Amino acid sequence: MTDKNILTIKHLKKSFGQHEVLKDIDLEVQNGEVLTIIGASGSGKSTLLRCLNLLEEPTNGQIIYEGKNILDDDFDRIQYRAKVGMVFQQFNLFNNLNVLDNCTVAQISVLKKDKESAEKIALKQLERVGMGPYVKAKPAQLSGGQKQRVAIARSLSMSPNLMLFDEPTSALDPEMVDGILDIMKDLAHTGLTMILVTHEMGFARDVSDHVVFMDNGVIAEKGTAEQIFGQPENPRTQEFLKRYL
Ligand code: ADP
Ligand code: MG
Repeated sequence: MTDKNILTIKHLKKSFGQHEVLKDIDLEVQNGEVLTIIGASGSGKSTLLRCLNLLEEPTNGQIIYEGKNILDDDFDRIQYRAKVGMVFQQFNLFNNLNVLDNCTVAQISVLKKDKESAEKIALKQLERVGMGPYVKAKPAQLSGGQKQRVAIARSLSMSPNLMLFDEPTSALDPEMVDGILDIMKDLAHTGLTMILVTHEMGFARDVSDHVVFMDNGVIAEKGTAEQIFGQPENPRTQEFLKRYL
């Protein structure tokens, strides 16, 4: 298939009880692009990302990946999740496992790699993010910035087709932020498809192909990084971005 979209999201809705958090979201994500989602706290950014990798079950709509609706009953969710990496604000490492094992466990259990080749791949990714010297450390011995590097290496060890980042620098001490942003910038330049939620607007402007502004469960505006940051049209977008001037 020559579909230029890696994901096509149609009429996506998500409610928690009576509270409709995502209201009819339509969105296309092109292969190789960096798409950034911005918006106020509570606007539904995390819920959208969590629906995309099926950590949340959408109430309605379709998410088409490689021509298939990932919400269909017969869709292979385990293989899909293996190909969609996610990096969280709070790292979500396996605290009982050392750094290396954090990066091999899913390769072995889901991708059925043998231990040796999983470790080789993990080491390569850990070195790439500057964590080569820490393979035997446990997460509790690491700083926030180091934990986030491991979380990124863990995702990359799965050879993802798509990476989701949910405020990966929001829980970090300020001096740790740039290192993580630099790693993400490098990844973007490799052509990996990335969807990210961030409040780092300078970074977002730099790396994003498209930017989506979410407001109260809807996509209030979508455009190129230049359009959204340079000439936002929606008054709500303008109002939101004023806070970051
Ligand atoms: P954002 O990431 O933009 O800050 P979220 O997607 O986390 O927004 O949350 C959007 C809304 O959905 C908020 O009102 C939040 O309280 C609600 N919400 C998120 N997750 C749950 C949940 N598991 N149960 C109930 N409400 C939730
Ligand atoms: Mg969030």
